[in-house]
Amino acid sequence: MEKELQTLKQRLLEINDLNSASALLSWDQSTYMPPGGAAARGRQMATLGRLAHEKFTDPEIGRLLDTLATYADSLPYDSDDASLIRTTRKEYEKATQVPPSLMAAFYAHSSAAYQVWTKARPENDFTAVAPYLEKTLDYSRRIADCFPGYDHIADPLIDFSDEGMKAESIRSLFAELRQELVPLLDNISTQPIPDDSCLHHHYPEAEQLAFGEMIIRQYGYDFERGRQDKTHHPFMTKFSLGDVRITTRVNENDLGEALFSTLHEAGHAMYEQGIRRDLEGTPLAGGTSAGVHESQSRLWENLVGRSRPFWQHYYPQLQTRFPDQLGRVSLDAFYGAINKVQRSLIRTDADEVTYNLHVMIRFDLELDLLEGSLAIKDLPEAWHGRYQSDLGLQAPDDRDGVLQDVHWYGGIIGGSFQGYTLGNIMSALFYDQALAAHPTIPAEIAQGQFDTLHGWLRDNIYQHGSKFTANELVERVTGGPLTIGPYIGYLKQKFEELYG
Ligand code: ZN
Repeated sequence: MEKELQTLKQRLLEINDLNSASALLSWDQSTYMPPGGAAARGRQMATLGRLAHEKFTDPEIGRLLDTLATYADSLPYDSDDASLIRTTRKEYEKATQVPPSLMAAFYAHSSAAYQVWTKARPENDFTAVAPYLEKTLDYSRRIADCFPGYDHIADPLIDFSDEGMKAESIRSLFAELRQELVPLLDNISTQPIPDDSCLHHHYPEAEQLAFGEMIIRQYGYDFERGRQDKTHHPFMTKFSLGDVRITTRVNENDLGEALFSTLHEAGHAMYEQGIRRDLEGTPLAGGTSAGVHESQSRLWENLVGRSRPFWQHYYPQLQTRFPDQLGRVSLDAFYGAINKVQRSLIRTDADEVTYNLHVMIRFDLELDLLEGSLAIKDLPEAWHGRYQSDLGLQAPDDRDGVLQDVHWYGGIIGGSFQGYTLGNIMSALFYDQALAAHPTIPAEIAQGQFDTLHGWLRDNIYQHGSKFTANELVERVTGGPLTIGPYIGYLKQKFEELYG
């Protein structure tokens, strides 16, 4: 068995190396590559991706996993070897159950759909993308059907990003959340909208970047094992546990943009940097799901980075950096500005209270499309209808309606959005547990100290990598299932204090 396991690990390490090399090419493409490199870069990444996929779906991997099954069963569930074999088995099934010809056709289609969308969005032309979206929906159903035995057709697609989560349980969790959010938002909307003009003075780029990097260094993001560069759409990427990078985007007329994206991506990166180093090179050495990953970015961005104790400590430093812009703005006014709640049309600009309403609209529409109760041609109308009923807003066009997010135009329909809200729910659930274990955390944050919180997250979440699914992790950490209680409690406390 020892020999078989070593052979498996050796093969997985090679696949990991191919994927890491591809990730580095992708990072370079989004940061420093000159435009002339684009055509060859696309081909190079496709080649590496194909090699990695071929190596991973090699029947020999299946044979090794079969041979190791009894050995895995003899081990404790949470042992490294059992977890490695279990996780690899699930990934192997996902990779081999969809015929390669179907995946190849889908990738070719989705890159064409993406190209059309990049033009259709600025031109506000849904009819241009509609035929592509029809095909995407068809592909999404066919991919789901490669995993027979599901309760809901969206389940296999949700499983790709949030393993173990089901359409039905997410639907009821979201319904519960909506029931709490709508009255909260209605109450907030009776109050005057805070003035956030202080965030929109001129803030020089170098100073903005220096301030953000100072904070994430104090958070515990390790620059010996990471770096930050500029890009169009901020992201985190990893080439090994010793090299976890983040990117940001600076707007000199919006102080929040670079700062909060830096805190967000650093949250993702600290999760990856905190994974046990001896899991390096295995499928366990990565965050476990879209939702859990997002819980870590939201925790550092919002629960810490938009909290009052945090700014009690950092606001005087920010004022010193930007005396002309903020010298006469009080802490209360600044805190209100960065936590302004306002109904808006664009998901990525949304505040903590309205954000989840945007996600739920997309999640419900995905289910309707997959179920066949909504047709692509009726999607823009359905979108506008939901924005009217859920947020009380009428988008002037489809550009700021159904065309706004890349997800359906560059990937499958199904499973693309729920992770954002699951992440928000889990961020408060985990933070609550950290506070229960260490009630001094808010006082420490007010001193610019994050070691206790960071240490708790490392011990309870980061170190495990992908050993446990999101549901298993929640159960281990909280002793119960995923619930919205702590998240709603957090939102109510914060925004009732802010808005009376
Ligand atoms: Zn994120």
